[in-house]
Order: sequence, then C-alpha cells, then structure tokens
Amino acid sequence: MTHNNDDIKIPSDLPEEYSQNTRKSGKIRRIVVDRQGCIGARSCVVVAEKVFQMDDKNLAYVLDDVESTDEETIHLAAEACPVLAIHLYDKDGNKIFPKESI
Ligand code: SF4
Repeated sequence: MTHNNDDIKIPSDLPEEYSQNTRKSGKIRRIVVDRQGCIGARSCVVVAEKVFQMDDKNLAYVLDDVESTDEETIHLAAEACPVLAIHLYDKDGNKIFPKESI
C-alpha cells in the first residue's frame, strides 16, 4: 500500500480559523496557524520563512511546501510565537506543541 498524507489524522482540537499543511515524514506531520490567535508578530516568519508567511491582513499562513525546513526549525518557530498560535501535531493528530499546561 502506498503511503500518502491522507493517513495523517485530522486533530480534534483545530482552531476555528486556521491555515495548515502536512508533512510527508518525521514526527511533526501537521502544522497549523490559529488565525484568530495570531497577532501578526511575525516571529514565525523570521525563524522559518519557508514555512510561514504573512498575508495582506498581517496574519501568518502556512506555505504549500513545508518539506524543506527541518523539524527543529519548525519547532523553534512555534516556540517563538508570543501567543502560541502555531500548533504542531503528529501523524495521529496528537498535539506536539504547545503542550497543555498541567
Ligand atoms: S509568530 Fe505567532 S503571532 Fe506572530 S505572525 Fe507568527 S503566528 Fe502570528
């Protein structure tokens, strides 16, 4: 059976308005920007410009090709967001970042 991105489970806790894309391999398989949470701080673009860009509303969106950036950089970009508007998920739809605080 060929492997494709349809195998990546859709998370149950997606934000209401979001931009997203999926990756073919690795631990981080889905990258989501919460478009209502985003305050246009642009930190994500500075860290990972091949993954995140700003649109004409000054909100971040996820670019089409997110394969060429390594996971560490994507994780750093998510950590750099001051309002934690970037959410990272694994193949099974489990959230990798940000972790729920206990
Ligand atoms: S770092 Fe966060 S708030 Fe800033 S543009 Fe990116 S998603 Fe939006």
